[in-house]
Amino acid sequence: MGNQIFSMEKSNKLGINTICTHVGEVKDEQFKGAVSPIYLSSSYQFYDVDIKRYPRYFNTPNQEALCRKIAALEKTESALIFGSGMAAISTTLMAFLQQGDHVVLQQTLYGGTYNLVVEEFHKFGIEYTFTNSLAVDDFKTAIQPNTKVIFIETPSNPLLKIVDIQGVAALAKEHGIITMIDNTFASPINQTPADFGIDIMIHSATKYMGGHSDILAGAVAASENHIQKIWNLAKNLGGSLSDFTVWMLERSMKTMSLRVRRQSENALKMAHYLESNTNVAKVYYPGLPSHEDYELAVFQMEDFGGMLSFELNEEIDTMDFQRNLQLIKPSMSLAGIESTVLSPSQTSHALLSEEERAAQGIKDGLIRFSVGIEETEDLIADIEQAIARL
Ligand SMILES: *Cc1c(COP(=O)(O)O)cnc(C)c1O
Repeated sequence: MGNQIFSMEKSNKLGINTICTHVGEVKDEQFKGAVSPIYLSSSYQFYDVDIKRYPRYFNTPNQEALCRKIAALEKTESALIFGSGMAAISTTLMAFLQQGDHVVLQQTLYGGTYNLVVEEFHKFGIEYTFTNSLAVDDFKTAIQPNTKVIFIETPSNPLLKIVDIQGVAALAKEHGIITMIDNTFASPINQTPADFGIDIMIHSATKYMGGHSDILAGAVAASENHIQKIWNLAKNLGGSLSDFTVWMLERSMKTMSLRVRRQSENALKMAHYLESNTNVAKVYYPGLPSHEDYELAVFQMEDFGGMLSFELNEEIDTMDFQRNLQLIKPSMSLAGIESTVLSPSQTSHALLSEEERAAQGIKDGLIRFSVGIEETEDLIADIEQAIARL
């Protein structure tokens, strides 16, 4: 049993940039350096120690320290970090589900999560229902006597729809059901679901926590009890993160608030620009008053995040447009400091049939835009020249 459990620190009272910069550092007692030393041992003394440390027990000094930062950001007692977002998601879901149990999942989910559920759960005798929409009522009708978990993801990918976090949390509490949220798109800078009663927050730390498109990692934040339960399975499944990458992630997270705030500001500006562009048919961004869930977003989000989607007018070929971009990179994944775009119909949602995509409102011409930290004038100029050269 490791000391993977952390007590809630006074850190919760600190400002967000102070938490990002300072909470959960490994003190350099020997040389008094300003940053965390990196401990790479995979072998630690076994006697006369409080904790038997081993990287797969999620309890090396760097792992433990970074977990404190993540717990402080998500306002929970404890946290765990994993080798990928999917390691975090799969371990957490499986920790709370067993044969004969049922889980309610939101209609639109990250493709990897969807695949995990539909390809693997039947092997373990776990039943599941995807909701018909993102409305709380549809979560309610999906609940069965054996439902143990409700899993949500908001803002959703790629249409940035918003789920009523407080509504779902209250519904679940009524039925004694555990709630989990994939909080990747908002990041803890823009959304802290624990404030609204969600039990477990999950991240692909590959995205805003890492933020530089060079780290694969995952994280879970929850109460000590819940983290204990997740840890019990996590040490058996073995999805821990290497300490080199843990250190990189700690370094990245020091600037997370600066990055995400700038990206949110930029995304709002780009959303307004695109909405006013006559070549653009529709813009999806929760920070636009024209967005169907704008009020809900204002209520539960600090800021609206760096992700938006848009459709160009039908006569414009979306692939030609993306090939013409010179600054904005058409590439997979999201949340880096550099701006990227992609076509969900060819990437994240390629495995769905055209009908399934249509049912979720995802047109083939839809472009998802992960807005970076560049100057918006330059991003706008890039889009203008890409359209002009068509
Ligand atoms: C990328 C992503 C994941 C999966 O994370 P990996 O780090 O790629 O395993 C899960 N959820 C969301 C919302 C994501 O964007």
